[in-house]
Amino acid sequence: MTPYRFTSAATVLAALAFVSSGLSATDTKPSHTPVPILMYHVIADPPADAPYPQLYVSERDFAGQMRWLARHGYRAVTQRQVWNHWHRGGALPPKPVVISFDDGYRSVAEAAWPHLQRRSWPGVLNLTVKNLQVSGGISQYKVRRLVADGWELASHTLTHPDLPGLDARSLTREVSRSRAILRAKFGVPVDFFCYPAGRYDARVVGTVRQAGYLGATTTIEGLASPEEPYELRRIRVSRRDGVDGLAEKLQG
Ligand SMILES: [Zn+2]
Repeated sequence: MTPYRFTSAATVLAALAFVSSGLSATDTKPSHTPVPILMYHVIADPPADAPYPQLYVSERDFAGQMRWLARHGYRAVTQRQVWNHWHRGGALPPKPVVISFDDGYRSVAEAAWPHLQRRSWPGVLNLTVKNLQVSGGISQYKVRRLVADGWELASHTLTHPDLPGLDARSLTREVSRSRAILRAKFGVPVDFFCYPAGRYDARVVGTVRQAGYLGATTTIEGLASPEEPYELRRIRVSRRDGVDGLAEKLQG
């Protein structure tokens, strides 16, 4: 058995949560297993004037979806655990799922975290640095708590711009500087990137790769697979999905 190489306290915590979930940590050979990465935004009921109500999933629906996943044998993992499985033969539970949250809304800590915490499940926070300072955004303190609980922190840029439309300098800044800031502030590796609004092209992918990220997530529907590390597909969970909609998306 190859010993794990821990890169940070958070990785250790995530691994401990994984081991304490009763699953074997025995390594296997590298694999090509596709893995579902769920994409959430706000966990709340949308206010009447919400410009994008479909980005909201109620806490009640979210709780039901987590219950459904647990009952059907799914176990949440981080993108790094998936990457380790694909490339280093690291262990994964039989039905892994990544639960990711884009942008960094306050509701993620308030309404989503408790439902993951009670199952010792990690989430993935795709954080836009700017959101640490806006109303409705998640606080630095809460991000620290999530990270200490085994959550994976990924970069979703500094300001959530349309990346293909940026000049070279701004593009590098949004991609590299966001990683440096998040690493410095929270002391975690920040190995993954998430394209704002799913917008990217070959130049953006090149910049992400050069900044040292191991992979990047898109808004293309489907399962993430190791053949396209910088174009990882995800499954969007929308307001109207409820438990049945999520079940259908995972089983289809
Ligand atoms: Zn976003």
